Amino acid sequence: MTTISIPHGKYHIWTVGCQMNQADSQRIQTMLDELGWEETSMEQANLVVLNTCSVRQAPEEKAHNLLANLRRAKNDRSDLLVALMGCMIGNQKTIDALGKRYPHIDLFMKVEHADILPRFLEERWTPISGAGCLDIDFMPDHPEDSVDEISISPTVPTFATSTDRAGKRTVLPMAITPKPGERVAHYPTKIEPAQASPTAWLPIVLGCNKVCTYCIVPYRRGRERSRPMEELMVEARSLVAKGARELTLLGQTVEAYGLDLPDKPDLADLMANLSDIDGLARIRFMTSYPRHMTDSMIERMAHLPKVCEHLNIPVQSGDENMLKRMKRGYSLDEYVERIDRVRELWPNITLSTDVIVGFCGETEEEFQHTLDLLAKIRFDVVHVAAYSVRPGTVASRWEDDVPLAEKKRRLHAVEDVQGKIAFELNQSYVGKVEEVMVEDINTTHDQRQLKGRNRANKLVFCPEPEGRFIQAGEFVQVRIERATAWSLQGDAVAL
Ligand code: SF4
Repeated sequence: MTTISIPHGKYHIWTVGCQMNQADSQRIQTMLDELGWEETSMEQANLVVLNTCSVRQAPEEKAHNLLANLRRAKNDRSDLLVALMGCMIGNQKTIDALGKRYPHIDLFMKVEHADILPRFLEERWTPISGAGCLDIDFMPDHPEDSVDEISISPTVPTFATSTDRAGKRTVLPMAITPKPGERVAHYPTKIEPAQASPTAWLPIVLGCNKVCTYCIVPYRRGRERSRPMEELMVEARSLVAKGARELTLLGQTVEAYGLDLPDKPDLADLMANLSDIDGLARIRFMTSYPRHMTDSMIERMAHLPKVCEHLNIPVQSGDENMLKRMKRGYSLDEYVERIDRVRELWPNITLSTDVIVGFCGETEEEFQHTLDLLAKIRFDVVHVAAYSVRPGTVASRWEDDVPLAEKKRRLHAVEDVQGKIAFELNQSYVGKVEEVMVEDINTTHDQRQLKGRNRANKLVFCPEPEGRFIQAGEFVQVRIERATAWSLQGDAVAL
């Protein structure tokens, strides 16, 4: 076994975007902690990792601003390394363009390549000055192949080194062997936190095979790749042994889990296996896609006691034409039929959705259809976003013709409609006793306030019961006294 000795430094991980990014950052953090590196501020760090999001314009702009700042910082400090990961990294072409614009980026890393970190740090970072760092070059066997089409050798990666192309910062391990057509989801399984959060993420399917016209994710995260069931079980058991009580299974279209695996297990099969893990109390999952949700899958999930009754199922628009333009892959009727069926097969299910307003060409009438749909379905939560162009997507070739002020008006209109619906729905909890898993504890004026979620994913607040010292991960029964559109509040009751 190869032992790598790395002098300890300090790191900072900056994360934006979805739960998948947060889960990935957690892995990187664990890995750096286990290497003996210490977390610190961005200003103090020897290694700054930017885990980026390209789904919307604002987070990408933030990353560009940070990269500009880091370029200045690197001019002053030779002991600073910059790594970029997340959705801003796509194929080799994207990496080359970013490398040209920001030659101070030392490492482009997909989380699937995180195994290279120890080696990278050993070769690129010295605690004294950074002088003498090796220039590392990527020498793929087939440079024309997309990095989305790779599998990774289980061996410790090694780097090609070169001095004749100083300034070139693209770094990938030579052990990555492109095999066109083979798409294996590989996560660095040795990355497990020493102590897991009570609420832990488990990415189960990476990438996306859909082609929604506004979305950059498939270009940056590649095609769907399910992680093998055995690998997930090992990781889940380990997370639970280290303190996780709730696992959230992640995927861009999470019900696609297993479609690319040899024996085609589905999401419900995985949940059934996970349910056997002692100490695991709750299983959640996101994000759902209506056409992958079969009746059989819903029924089996509904009968697993550990699986919580909450579904995040983005609709994006309530207008038939808009759905076609967005290329969502379902009609409005199909979406509504799926929701009806889910409610039939899984009583007590709560629903959240995502909506985009102001997409290319959206008329007032088409927007009204979205408001109509929200009133009809009555989701518990709606995440609404104003459309912003993502270069490289199909829609980026179309006119972004809804003015910003109008997008904002539509966004607020959705919030107003949804606020009233959520307020009404949440009143039904008043007087009920809910099982709440505590996620966080805030102390104000010497009073400890518990914050957690019920099974339906509603945020619940309650004061810590007298005489008890509750910790995150514990369960409390809470009688709900008040409800707003955003949360429930109540008091703990004795069992
Ligand atoms: S389903 Fe559509 S919106 Fe979701 S990640 Fe895939 S392409 Fe993007």
